[in-house]
Amino acid sequence: MATASLDTAPYPAGPARHAPALPVPGLDADPRPSLVGVTRSGLAERLVAIGVPAREARMRTAQLWHWIYHRGIRDFAEMTNVGRAVRHALADAYTLARPEVVAEQVSRDGTRKWLIRMPPVADDRGGRPAEIECVYIPESDRGTLCVSSQVGCTLTCSFCHTGTQRLVRNLSAAEIAAQVVVARDRLGDWPGGTRPTDGLVPAAGERAVTNVVFMGMGEPLYNLDAVADAVDTMSDGEGLALSRRRITVSTSGVVPEFEPLGTRAAAMLAISLHAVRDELRDELVPLNRKYPIAALLDACRMYPGVSNARRITFEYVMLKGVNDQDADARELVRLLKGIPAKINLIPFNPWPGTVYECSSWERIERFSEIVFRAGYASPVRTPRGRDILAACGQLKSETEKLSARARMLAEGAAVV
Ligand code: SAH
Ligand code: SF4
Repeated sequence: MATASLDTAPYPAGPARHAPALPVPGLDADPRPSLVGVTRSGLAERLVAIGVPAREARMRTAQLWHWIYHRGIRDFAEMTNVGRAVRHALADAYTLARPEVVAEQVSRDGTRKWLIRMPPVADDRGGRPAEIECVYIPESDRGTLCVSSQVGCTLTCSFCHTGTQRLVRNLSAAEIAAQVVVARDRLGDWPGGTRPTDGLVPAAGERAVTNVVFMGMGEPLYNLDAVADAVDTMSDGEGLALSRRRITVSTSGVVPEFEPLGTRAAAMLAISLHAVRDELRDELVPLNRKYPIAALLDACRMYPGVSNARRITFEYVMLKGVNDQDADARELVRLLKGIPAKINLIPFNPWPGTVYECSSWERIERFSEIVFRAGYASPVRTPRGRDILAACGQLKSETEKLSARARMLAEGAAVV
């Protein structure tokens, strides 16, 4: 694993870190699947698959759950209350391996970004691993983990770096939940764990990861089943134990999936609004052509469980000369009337090749004042981890979908 120091060149560092040799399945890859990230029902199925009687599976699942998600252990041998025979059977068939952290960067402000490599899945033709990014943002009273739900994104929001990377694939529920496990490993955030000494991490005794936001790579509502299962795993009180009120799913506005998200996952909702007129939002968030602002806001009003205690967050990226005028701020406030809402103004985070600039601080302050006077508190989100391209919308991995030609080459077929 490469660890970049505070002052290294902008991320990504160079091809060597991002050009892994193609793994040869069964040769250099461990053929045993990992149980890390797997749901409760998935664990029960895997136990039955290795011969644990169905009547025992429930009790054994509870034991595994505790060791994997409460204690964070990495070796079946440590499961002291599980009989030796079952431990051996488990170790023969499965591992407790985590997805590999191939790079870690620590920002001056304590933000950490991990490049995480997911092993290839069966339908990854060409057998290439997929890389995603995951960001940890410590604050005085909380630690927020920003997780990815897809490798790349099918949407093409014009101000977002991830939007320039085509969708490679959805992450599975296990791959999403495993990001929390990896973060807790890296932060020494298991009982008896040791905190890293570089960067600002909460002291031992407090939990390092208290909140999760689906604001990494991908559109979570285009991968709802996996996201909902991962939220179940993260929020289970006998394991990772993150309250659903501290898990926020951010969407560019996939309206038909709001109700299913609220009903199945009861997660908090954040909307990437960014514009108050359809004409401009069509340009910034092209999905708006399908689900325009009025439909989006109607769906917010209907979001299951929405109330003053469970507000919807509206994200608004500040783009110089594009969406940052006083009239925009006034219209924003008018549009949100009657919706239990929080507003997050996000200073635009630049990335190589973008045509946008961040609004000036005076402009952002003026905008935020109008919003503040309408009753919304402290709305500007301080950019975090900008020096390591870990801030909102700067995430992108080198994993590209293979072209048909590259796939055939990887599969050893003749290409003419
Ligand atoms: N696809 C989802 C979640 C990931 S994007 C969504 O769009 O909501 C997370 C947040 O970062 C979104 O609000 C997105 O609009 C914002 N964002 C994207 N690019 C950005 C950039 N360059 N600077 C600031 N915020 C950005
Ligand atoms: Fe995808 Fe969200 Fe980026 Fe839009 S802002 S391209 S939906 S990740």
